[in-house]
Amino acid sequence: MSFQNLNLNGSMLRVVKRVGYTEPTPIQARTIPHILKGRDIVGCAQTGTGKTAAFVLPIVQLLRQNPTARRIRVLALAPTRELAAQINDEFGRFTQGSPLKHTVVFGGVGQQPQVDALRRGVDILVATPGRLQDLMNQGYIHLDNIEIFVLDEADRMLDMGFIHDVKRIIKRLPKQRQTLLFSATMPAAIVDLSKSILIKPVRVEANPQATTVEKIEQSVYFVDSGDKRELLKHLLRDSASERVLVFARTKHRANNLAKQLNRARFPAEAIHGNKSQTARTRALARFKTGHTPVLVATDIAARGLDIDAVSHVINFDLPREPESYVHRIGRTARAGASGIACSFCGADERKLLHSIERLIRQPIPVVAEHPYASAIAAAPPSAPPRKPSNANRRRRARRRKAV
Ligand code: AMP
Repeated sequence: MSFQNLNLNGSMLRVVKRVGYTEPTPIQARTIPHILKGRDIVGCAQTGTGKTAAFVLPIVQLLRQNPTARRIRVLALAPTRELAAQINDEFGRFTQGSPLKHTVVFGGVGQQPQVDALRRGVDILVATPGRLQDLMNQGYIHLDNIEIFVLDEADRMLDMGFIHDVKRIIKRLPKQRQTLLFSATMPAAIVDLSKSILIKPVRVEANPQATTVEKIEQSVYFVDSGDKRELLKHLLRDSASERVLVFARTKHRANNLAKQLNRARFPAEAIHGNKSQTARTRALARFKTGHTPVLVATDIAARGLDIDAVSHVINFDLPREPESYVHRIGRTARAGASGIACSFCGADERKLLHSIERLIRQPIPVVAEHPYASAIAAAPPSAPPRKPSNANRRRRARRRKAV
C-alpha cells in the first residue's frame, strides 16, 4: 500500500514525503479515503498505530480544498495535555507551507498565550475538555463553525471522568458536521456515545495488539511487594537499557520510586497528572534525549506519549485493566522495533496477571531465577504457599544476618 492510493492530492503527498512517511500504516490506509469522502469514522486504534496522521492528513487536505475566512473549522478533543500537544504538533507538520493556522489549549499553564493565539485566528483547534470549556465560558471560543470534530482516545475520556464534559461540548457543535471518534477499547459507554454522535460511521479497526505483543520479549517476575524496589534496581544494574519506562500504580508510588532510584544513583523522573505541565514537558524531553534514562509513569500520564526507542518497559505494578498492559508494553515496539517488557507480580496481583494472559491469549514466561524470587507471589491465589525456593531461603538468611 502506498500513500498514492489513498486519494491524497499532490500537495499533501509532497508534505508526506517531506515529513518522511514512506508507507501508510494500516489505520491510515483504511481511514484516509473515507475521511476524504466526508464519512464519519469510528476507529478502534491505540497510540502507536499512526492514528493521529490518519485523521490529520485528510483533514488538512479537506480544509485546503475548501478555503474559507479564518474561523475554527476543526476541533480535536484529547484527554491529556500531552496527547493534545502531540496532535497539535502533527497538525503543525502537515500544515507547513499552507495558510492554515492551528493551536492547542489545555489546562495547567497560563491561559493568556492561548487566548492571544485564538485572537490571532485559527482554523484548527486542539483542546482538552476542561480548558476548552473555560475558554468557551469566557467567550474566547465559539464552536458554531466546526465542520470536523475529532474525539480522540474516547475510552480514556471515560476513564478520566471527562465524559460529561465531552457530551456538554458536543451539544455546542453544529449538527451538520463530520465526526471522527477514536478509541483504543470500546466499552459500552463509548459504543452508546458513538451511536448518538456519529451518522452511518465507517468502522475501522487497527488492532495492533497481537502483532505488537508478539514482537515484544515479555517476562514476569514473581516477587514480594516489599522486594520490588530492589528487583528494579537489580534489573537496571544488569540491563544495558538506555531508556526504561517504569509503570507504577499511583502518582504517589511513581514519585517515591523516582526519588529512591535517584538516591541509588539511577537518574529517574516521575511523570503523572499532578505535575505541572512545564515539569512534565521537561521530564519528557530529558527522557527523550537520554539525559534521564528512567521515567516512572502512571498509566494516565503515559497515555498518548510519543516516546520512541524505549528499550524496556517495566511494570513495577501490574495494571488494574488488562488492556493497559498492552498499551504499556506497546511503547517498546514502536515503528517496527522490538522491545522488552518485564512485569513484577506480587502475591496480590496474581488475578491481574491471569486477566492479562487471557487478553493476550498467551502465558507470559516466568523468570524464576532472580535474587528476589518469591514462592508466595508465584503460588496460585488458592494454593497454600509453597516451600521457599533456594534463592528465597538465601535471601531470608541474608536479611536475618543484616538485622
Ligand atoms: P500515533 O499512533 O499517531 O501516536 O503515531 C505513532 C508514531 O508513528 C508517531 O511518532 C508518528 O510520527 C509515527 N508515524 C505515523 N504514521 C507514520 C507513517 N506512515 N510512517 C512512519 N511513521 C509514522
